[in-house]
Amino acid sequence: MPKLYWRRTSTKAPETYDVVDGQQRLRAIWDFFDGKFKLPKDAEPINGEAIAGCLYDDLPDEIRSHFDVYPLDIVILEDTDEDEVREMFLRLQNGTSLKAQEKRNAFPGKMRDFVRQTAQQPFFQRVGFTNSRFAYDHIAAQLILLEMQGGPANIKNADLNKMYDDHRDFDASSPVGKAVKRVLDILASVFQEKTPELERYNVIALYCVITELLRQYVIDEVRPHLHDWFVGFEAMRRQQDARPEEEADADWVSYREKISHSTDAGDSIRFRMEFMLRHLLEQFPGLSPKDNQRGFTHVQKLAIFRRDKGICQLRLRCDGVKITWDDWHADHKVAWSRGGKSTVENGQVACPACNLAKGAGVIPVGANPAN
Ligand SMILES: [Zn+2]
Repeated sequence: MPKLYWRRTSTKAPETYDVVDGQQRLRAIWDFFDGKFKLPKDAEPINGEAIAGCLYDDLPDEIRSHFDVYPLDIVILEDTDEDEVREMFLRLQNGTSLKAQEKRNAFPGKMRDFVRQTAQQPFFQRVGFTNSRFAYDHIAAQLILLEMQGGPANIKNADLNKMYDDHRDFDASSPVGKAVKRVLDILASVFQEKTPELERYNVIALYCVITELLRQYVIDEVRPHLHDWFVGFEAMRRQQDARPEEEADADWVSYREKISHSTDAGDSIRFRMEFMLRHLLEQFPGLSPKDNQRGFTHVQKLAIFRRDKGICQLRLRCDGVKITWDDWHADHKVAWSRGGKSTVENGQVACPACNLAKGAGVIPVGANPAN
């Protein structure tokens, strides 16, 4: 059984620990002890004693006591801060995948060459982590796969291996190849110096934020502010992490959850991208969508809904009713048909009844029509 990593969180009795690595193993031990599952039907006998299909209580005494006193190898971390622990956890979690990247680097083909070339981009010289065990190659491969999939997707080892295999003839000057270079060039221009806040887990989500900005918004409006926004975002995350769980903002607690495990899963990446983008839109509510589009984007709606706390702002047919996420309208304060933009600034929460009334030209009681 591999080593467990625990972080001491209190030295006073009773001593408490966070499990940095090994939660599933511990849970399996306790669950087995509590009789919640049986050993597999094909489990080999131990010392000649049959144990297949046994619950803990069915085990022969001798084997049960062997289980009870089996020593676990535990590494106790002391005086480590949250970020060190997170970094260590990611290293442990990726322990096998780092070997996998080494293997991929030996994989013949043009995808291998493109990944290696991408890992040399100036942006990787600005990140806060080192290239030990081919971390840059690994992330470069993940970014290329995200670009290929057109947004958040699973980027685990099996997915990366398949990409190397399916694209042995990859063309670096293809649209995907160009797009990856373009986004990394933007990131290199935003981060002109080494930035310790750029960690493994947020580089992935940040890349997706930039592609989404390129796809849906007039990125030049925020480009000069992206560096400060990102550093501020990370400062806020640290601040939130330092709070006791019950005082922390629920949104940030779920964000923390998403950056703590399964960081290579598509739904985790999508959550993180939308979370960061919404934070950006809250700070720059005037950011305009490309092509003068009529509808609000999903993330704009999230930002509007959160800002208005889900309360109808129109009050034509209601007096400020609180509505649910699946039953509301994002209303343009200045109508789109009158040149109002689809920005967070020009959006507001409307209940369906009020939105309909506004469309029909109903003026609220007491309102000054001149406004
Ligand atoms: Zn209303």
